[in-house]
Amino acid sequence: MGLFDGKKGLIFGVANKNSIAWGIAQALHAEGATLGFSYAGEILKKRVEPLAASVGSDFVEECDVTNDDAIAATFAKIADHFGEIDFLVHSIAFAPGEELGGRFHKTSRNGFRIALDISCYSLITLAGHARELMPNGGSIVTMTYYGAEKVTPNYNVMGVAKAALEASVRYLAWDLGKDSIRVNAISAGPIKTLAASGVSGFRKSLNYVGQVAPMGNVDQEDVGQAALFLLSDHATRITGEVLYVDGGYNIMGAPDPTMMDGGEKSE
Ligand code: NAP
Repeated sequence: MGLFDGKKGLIFGVANKNSIAWGIAQALHAEGATLGFSYAGEILKKRVEPLAASVGSDFVEECDVTNDDAIAATFAKIADHFGEIDFLVHSIAFAPGEELGGRFHKTSRNGFRIALDISCYSLITLAGHARELMPNGGSIVTMTYYGAEKVTPNYNVMGVAKAALEASVRYLAWDLGKDSIRVNAISAGPIKTLAASGVSGFRKSLNYVGQVAPMGNVDQEDVGQAALFLLSDHATRITGEVLYVDGGYNIMGAPDPTMMDGGEKSE
């Protein structure tokens, strides 16, 4: 018996096998879930279709989340194919490359608009559409990052977008609680993916976090297991939360002295 036997849901944000969304998809599949996938652009089709097929999914639809008509059309197809759904995974973010490095005060109006639209507003509108297909309640999970709360140099406007995303999770949790739909976020530590590679200095940050975090770097599988919990009935009445899956990095106030020049060796 799998935890998700008989449950159906959608995953937005698989770009390739390194995507966090793919780690979540594999965890859900292992527990018996029936999955549908949506990807951003035509060029991803060749990569996403074989991945979807490998977890027994025959629902793979293109959907650019900046386009309201595309979202409505995708959800019409989802309704036809699945009828009702039990869960939604939102694992989508984007900011123009020039916004992910350098001086923050140089953030452009257009870069700000794009980052907030794709990385935050998309959750609100996808949740609204998913609600229509969740008459008996459901669970929604999105992906955030510590840069929402504390300055992570170069993450820049994406940190602002993630702060808005986390606030949206709380407002959605309040609103959709009336429909028995839970909404939570996972704050993942840095993981090497397509999106992450766009942030200046990402590799150095990954190494640093790996050394500072009590349990080192995390991977897609770690996030997949946490998503499994939040999407499952084991998380009944947990809503509006941000769950850290970051090897404990967020609890640290300073690196271990052994990492610093001239630091004392700890036992
Ligand atoms: P990823 O594999 O590149 O996934 C990002 C996804 O967002 C891609 O599938 C991308 O499609 C999609 N996307 C971008 N613009 C879109 C649009 N207009 N419409 C629909 N989809 C669009 O990278 P990832 O690291 O797994 O990112 C997934 C989520 O995890 C993001 O929210 C990210 O901020 C978050 N996160 C990542 C890390 C990390 O270190 N990797 C840490 C914490 C949180 P395209 O490739 O076509 O643009």
